[in-house]
Amino acid sequence: MSRRVLVLEDETNIRSFIVINLKRAGYETIEAGTGQEALDQLRRNPDINVALLDVMLPDTDGFEVCRRIRASNKTIGIIMLTALTQEMDKVTGLMTGADDYVTKPFSPAELTARIDALCRRTGGGEPTVDTGEIYYSPFLLNTRNRTLEKNGQRVKLTQVEYSIVQFLMENAGKAMSREEILDVVWGKEYFGELKIVDVNIRRLRIKIEDDPTNPTYINTVWGYGYKWGA
Ligand code: CA
Repeated sequence: MSRRVLVLEDETNIRSFIVINLKRAGYETIEAGTGQEALDQLRRNPDINVALLDVMLPDTDGFEVCRRIRASNKTIGIIMLTALTQEMDKVTGLMTGADDYVTKPFSPAELTARIDALCRRTGGGEPTVDTGEIYYSPFLLNTRNRTLEKNGQRVKLTQVEYSIVQFLMENAGKAMSREEILDVVWGKEYFGELKIVDVNIRRLRIKIEDDPTNPTYINTVWGYGYKWGA
């Protein structure tokens, strides 16, 4: 059973991240960087099982591509790739004929699970591979090797710093209290001061933020704790 996935994403680093992980999970991939390319590829490869469509594209938007695909193909599985802030996109995407959506940042495990589910509905499907990676542009966190990359460059972190980043990234967009961070990273039996969290965050920001005095990845939630992302 062929399991071919069209990956429409204009950001090349995200696209290759998706492609690498889909190949690892046993899929055949076909890439497109614009809406037009995606439609051309589908005409050339009518046996594509699932199309992953990014919403923000240089020539059109993913919903329009979705509408056009659906107009001529009722059986292909369609998954929209939406941004965390685009809540409305999900609704619009499903109305234009998409089967599912995945919110960025997503883990490869989450993405392949969704594709597998769609493939099962349309025939085919094999077990997924959990690569233990979390992608949050421009960061790639590998939970197996406990490493962090920014723009493909390894960031040297202590074990504690790594643990903080992992905890915050796994809960991206949610405010985590300093007590929670202390419990998860240092353990419940640790009776040090909460200030140790702030000290480590300050050091982390110097390592990972573009401008540590004006952080955009690790944000302060005043009087409470910290949050990864907006
Ligand atoms: Ca895009």
